[in-house]
Amino acid sequence: MNLRGLFKSADNVLEGSPNKNDGTGKTEEKSYVYECPNCKSMLTRQGVREHDYSCPECDYYFHISARKRILMYADSKSFDELMAGVESENIIGFPEYDQKLLDARKKSGEKEGVVCGRITIGKMPCCIFSMDANFMMGSMGTVVGEKITALFEYATRQQLPVIGVTVSGGARMQEGMLSLLQMAKVSGAVKKHSDAGLLYVVLMTNPTTGGVEASFAMEGDIILAEPNALIGFAGPRVIQQTLKKKLPKGFQRSEALLKCGFVDDIVRRIEQREYLEQLLLLHGGRAQ
Ligand SMILES: [Zn+2]
Repeated sequence: MNLRGLFKSADNVLEGSPNKNDGTGKTEEKSYVYECPNCKSMLTRQGVREHDYSCPECDYYFHISARKRILMYADSKSFDELMAGVESENIIGFPEYDQKLLDARKKSGEKEGVVCGRITIGKMPCCIFSMDANFMMGSMGTVVGEKITALFEYATRQQLPVIGVTVSGGARMQEGMLSLLQMAKVSGAVKKHSDAGLLYVVLMTNPTTGGVEASFAMEGDIILAEPNALIGFAGPRVIQQTLKKKLPKGFQRSEALLKCGFVDDIVRRIEQREYLEQLLLLHGGRAQ
């Protein structure tokens, strides 16, 4: 299966128009430079891509789409997408939701806020879901919940581990109570997968909040996070306004959560693929 056509269209500084094909079949990747927003180093597009979309100088993480994330971990040509065609509808007639869905599809190049499928890592098969911040900030609606639930059910039938990469602003308010119901629905499928003795690894990225954080993002057997990711239920601004107290530095960041025991490990992006491969191997993964 040729995966090239599945990449979403360019929409950020790293993927955008400056790197146009010059018509010779070659791109000007090496010559084009960007300034890292964090350390101000000048970076080439190719250099950043080779560093798994992080700054080689300071480890600043550029945004990465759900699909690129999966391909970053998967063995070459091993990604087999599942439930690719499922799309949300405006089920409760929420004002302007139809237009928001159209905009999100255009912006992300995806039909919904999560991409699911089957891959191999180090030739060991597993299921994977990856949320996309470009689709309404990875919010969880009925289709996101249904796709992840169906993926866990598939993984349980196939006796496969699941790797989940989360990024989310929480439940999708445009679907009202139906979006909140997804928390319970996905959790039920996670429990059945767990009861079958199967491994579920979560990797939380910046930000993982709201109903996603309060359900399947925190239900992994092993819970990993990217450095400095915001992880919490209510956001820090809401908490600060409610408590009327200044929050400590690093509040709700991965490093603080690691100290409190909510997160098992923090894994740099450049090391994630090998880390996941080792986890699969340690938990009985067998190369196909
Ligand atoms: Zn940098």
